[in-house]
Amino acid sequence: MKRSLFIVGNWKMNTTLQSAKSLAADVVKGLDGKLSGVEVGVCPPAPFLLPVAEALRGSQVVLGAQNASNEKPGAFTGEVAIEMLLDVGCQWVILGHSERRQFFGDTDEIINKKVLAALDRGLKVIFCIGELLDDRQSGRTEAVLEVQLAKGLLNLTAAQMERVVIAYEPVWAIGTGVTASPEQAEETHAYIRKWLTTRFSSSVSDATRIQYGGSVKGDNAKELLAKPNIDGALVGGASLKADQFLAIVRAASEVATIS
Ligand code: PEP
Repeated sequence: MKRSLFIVGNWKMNTTLQSAKSLAADVVKGLDGKLSGVEVGVCPPAPFLLPVAEALRGSQVVLGAQNASNEKPGAFTGEVAIEMLLDVGCQWVILGHSERRQFFGDTDEIINKKVLAALDRGLKVIFCIGELLDDRQSGRTEAVLEVQLAKGLLNLTAAQMERVVIAYEPVWAIGTGVTASPEQAEETHAYIRKWLTTRFSSSVSDATRIQYGGSVKGDNAKELLAKPNIDGALVGGASLKADQFLAIVRAASEVATIS
């Protein structure tokens, strides 16, 4: 029995107020209530969380943020607190995305603080990890992921892991149009699951959903999602067009139905 699949759109720093509202509305309309075995979420830019929450109201689509501060509300200019995200209807937050690691100085230590803060204060976490092209080509993928997992999930309990989804996103596949082959992704997901067994337990490992991210599209989603250790997708570019995103959700539904 496959874990329930989780398809999430990461809109990054894209959309306008108007296009964010219509994209959310089009996703809801396109799903038309048919979501068995698949959970769907969208993560708009912070200023559009509230209007998107309104567009999602009454649907099964869940709302997530793309980042959060680990600090409590207070004198932190430019930051967004977990409490504020909860207030506008977020259930999820993406943490450790490679763009945050690469451009905004989010180290494993900072990501770990954010993960712990989010879980303690009521958000669920999509925790992203992934290797650079150079790491993969030199055979260091597992070593790199091991450090990101060990440091990013430091001090988490098995109970907290129930509210964590891991997104494996090879950096070389993000926004490049190059996807990891289903076999490459499956092999790495299996490694992550083995790591979870050693660090936590086989029940945590069995229950934890591991999404794949990196140029997922309607035409490659089914093959990826059919792999036993791939439990969903974190989708960037293709989540900005409702029909492309819905094609991925449809592929997930087909996989869920036959599993
Ligand atoms: C992402 O940024 O999480 C991502 C997977 O992007 P893309 O689908 O565009 O590769």
